Amino acid sequence: MAITKVKIDQDLCTVCGLCEDTCPEVFEVNDTAKVKDDADFNAFEDEIKEAAEDCPAEAIHYQEE
Ligand code: SF4
Repeated sequence: MAITKVKIDQDLCTVCGLCEDTCPEVFEVNDTAKVKDDADFNAFEDEIKEAAEDCPAEAIHYQEE
């Protein structure tokens, strides 16, 4: 299984910044939280899962294939 997609639900996200603290290689939080265009999902699989689990708004979703 490899992570192929990571999405942030902007309607739920409170822009708290926690995902960037957990994995700055994948998440970038400024005015909004976003997934970096050049993010390497495979290299940071554990961190992405941790960020999704810890997101207080449950706004991070990822797809594994
Ligand atoms: S941890 Fe969740 S609520 Fe906080 S900035 Fe990231 S996506 Fe948004």
